Amino acid sequence: MQEFGIDLGTANTVVCDSTEGVVLDEPSVMLTRAGFPRRGVVAVGREACELLGRSPAGVYPVRPLQDGVITDLESARLYLRSVLHRIAPNPWGRARMRAAIGVPVGATTLERRALLEAADEAGIHRACALPEPIAGAIGCGIDPLERRAHLVVDVGGGTAEATSFCYGGILAHRSCRVAGDEMTLAVTHHLREQHQILIGELTAEQVKIQASTADGPSLVVQGRDAGTGRPRLATLEVNELNEVVRPVIDGIIQTLAACLDELPPQATCDILADGVALFGGGSLICRFGDSLERAFGFPVKLAERPLTCVAEGATLSLHNPDLLHSYASPSG
Ligand code: ADP
Ligand code: MG
Repeated sequence: MQEFGIDLGTANTVVCDSTEGVVLDEPSVMLTRAGFPRRGVVAVGREACELLGRSPAGVYPVRPLQDGVITDLESARLYLRSVLHRIAPNPWGRARMRAAIGVPVGATTLERRALLEAADEAGIHRACALPEPIAGAIGCGIDPLERRAHLVVDVGGGTAEATSFCYGGILAHRSCRVAGDEMTLAVTHHLREQHQILIGELTAEQVKIQASTADGPSLVVQGRDAGTGRPRLATLEVNELNEVVRPVIDGIIQTLAACLDELPPQATCDILADGVALFGGGSLICRFGDSLERAFGFPVKLAERPLTCVAEGATLSLHNPDLLHSYASPSG
């Protein structure tokens, strides 16, 4: 029987198979064509992303999740169905599949049910919805059924979330709407204001990622001169970019502080001793873990695979009935 863990992120969708590992890792975007009575899907994932800004009239890009929540139930269902059809094209195969789908902690019952119904419509009758931080924690090797409290921080595209849990239940959860995308915006804004150079969203994201992985002290950016409109190069210091994303990091630090404030003292002691686990693409920004360690004084451990651990953990959860009983909402 095939078993899948599915992470429907605001920025990326990752699907992990229990035997093959990660089988899909693509941007969470689709192109749809308006139609009656049903909308049609033109392209999904990377293919849809490549067509952004080049799509013909009547075709619209849709991001099924925004700021970590499902904004439009119909789009989310359409998207999930397309993803499921891609990973398991054969309807007989889908009927025998099991899946755990990561959902935001704050997802409403209606949103969870809509996703599980979409899975059911796509032929996956045995699906369950598991909170994303729990799935991510499992993917980092944490046991969420332990009697010790744990805390994880997930910095995605649209939101950063701090979640503490213990012995099968969530203790505290705080989320803020500044994360990876906001860092990208800050880079765009800085280049326009301080270097008079205009760059697109995709380039800004590349610059941000390059800065967090750069070997040298500076990097070169190509864009359009804000005055003349001609192509131009600019040299950026990595330290300068670290300062640019600082307000976003401070926002995330405040969210983590608010989550810690909600915890009972015994749970705080556990976290001070064990530290927090960090995952999500945004946590790869330069020296993010160090900033958290300096602010709180406890150890911070970055996940081995920060971009895929939610999907990997969701797959692993399917082998742990006690865990699913405590944290997951079953379909049906
Ligand atoms: P989501 O769960 O919301 O789909 P992800 O966990 O996939 O989000 O993370 C996506 C975010 O991580 C994007 O904003 C992307 O720019 C950012 N990101 C990915 N890799 C890096 C990196 N090496 N350095 C900084 N940011 C990164
Ligand atoms: Mg995520």
